[in-house]
Amino acid sequence: MSADETDNQGTSDEAGSEGATGVTRRGLLKNGLAMAGSVAAIAAGAAGSARADDSQPYSPLYAQAGDSVGGRKFRAWVSRGEGPGRTTLQELALRPIGGRQVVVRTEAANLCYTLSPAMLGIVRQFQGPQRPLTAQQRARRDRLNNMATIQGHGGVGIVEAIGPEVRRVKVGDRVCVSGTPQCGVCYACLRGRSDMCQFLGPANTPEGMTPVADMRDGTPVYMNSQIGGFGEYMVTVEEWVVPIITKAPAAHLEVACACTSVAGLGATTSQGIAVLPPAAKVAVVGCGPLGLSAIQGARIAGAKMIIGVDPIRVRREAAMKVGASHVLDPNEPGDVVDKVRELTSEENPSIWGGGIYSAPFQDGGADFVVEAAGGEWLPPALERGPDPTGLLPMQQAYDMLHGTGHAVLTSLAFGNLSFNAGVFALAGRSVHSGQAGGCSPLRDIPKFVSFLDNGSFDPTPMLTAPVPLEKVLDTYQEVARRATILAVLVA
Ligand SMILES: [Zn+2]
Ligand SMILES: [Zn+2]
Repeated sequence: MSADETDNQGTSDEAGSEGATGVTRRGLLKNGLAMAGSVAAIAAGAAGSARADDSQPYSPLYAQAGDSVGGRKFRAWVSRGEGPGRTTLQELALRPIGGRQVVVRTEAANLCYTLSPAMLGIVRQFQGPQRPLTAQQRARRDRLNNMATIQGHGGVGIVEAIGPEVRRVKVGDRVCVSGTPQCGVCYACLRGRSDMCQFLGPANTPEGMTPVADMRDGTPVYMNSQIGGFGEYMVTVEEWVVPIITKAPAAHLEVACACTSVAGLGATTSQGIAVLPPAAKVAVVGCGPLGLSAIQGARIAGAKMIIGVDPIRVRREAAMKVGASHVLDPNEPGDVVDKVRELTSEENPSIWGGGIYSAPFQDGGADFVVEAAGGEWLPPALERGPDPTGLLPMQQAYDMLHGTGHAVLTSLAFGNLSFNAGVFALAGRSVHSGQAGGCSPLRDIPKFVSFLDNGSFDPTPMLTAPVPLEKVLDTYQEVARRATILAVLVA
């Protein structure tokens, strides 16, 4: 059963066992309060103020929030069809919510590079070898393209309404709508890999999506990835919502909570798939929003050396501002892998005293590498890297490791890699793959917000000027050409 089918069933099952239990508990609570003479408190609860119930985090009173948003008008960027012009700013009407649905008033959302083709209707110009789609895959893609979809994949905001089964948040809470869900009960979540939560799978399939709004002509509208972001409201499901407690300005908060930052900080500080040890020698390949947040995470984790690699000068400058100790331009003469190995070669030559003596360590190499370059959707407006498919930077990230080193892959490259089998099997290098840098959203996103609040995460060098809703599509022309670092919609 897909995530959305579960939601729909949840709506219709409202009078089932949960609902019945809720009535009983509510009755008990009501009686208890009345006996204590707290009539005013009951009146406040009955008026629908979910915040009146702060002391009862799992109270069935949450079920009273009900649906007060159906029909409410809002604006959002909606994509449909193919080619340039597929994305337009539309006025929509929210559908009634139910089950575990959550309506969030958008404060900010990041303009993720990954969404460039969906927003602009472009086909990438550079790609590695790939298998042609089957007829079934093509039909499915066409079906998805023709579903009117609110773009974006996450953001921060304030909970406006919740379905009767929602427990994680209440109306008025500030939340991050995470690009990666965490249900806590699926096969992956139970094995400590919430980054691979299975609620992610159906979120972008025609069968897994459910309409959340209507266009003026009655066309049903869906949310990209079950979350959206480029609109005045996000309609999502409980599994994607992470409560955060902070007074940080929305734009800065979004920089810390953006899908890219969650992946970069996750790769370096969550210890979800690989542990970055203290005083490590770290290389970060690609210094866009992913890499810059990985550099900050490596600094926070206590790395002693952080080497940022990027062809774009302003990104290398930003890398130095957020904590890199060295930066390298892969377009400069000489092999960037050799340069990293040289920088990381230990001075201590004693095999008896913890030093570097023999292969596979003698040529230096990083303890930890975050790969964050990715392929190009369009030719960059600024300096161009050595390989538009993103495969070479990924290969280089692997080659920068010494024996026992760890690489976390976070980007999307196009094509296939090949490795020397002997090195791949026996050289002691570990490669880690996952969503969101392997982080556990409910556990780690509040931690990233703390990094922002205590000043250890600096959003300023990463933040390109805030973007109003009306300018999102125009700004994507720059995003797709890597002329921005992290553009953020601030509603
Ligand atoms: Zn993203
Ligand atoms: Zn899960």
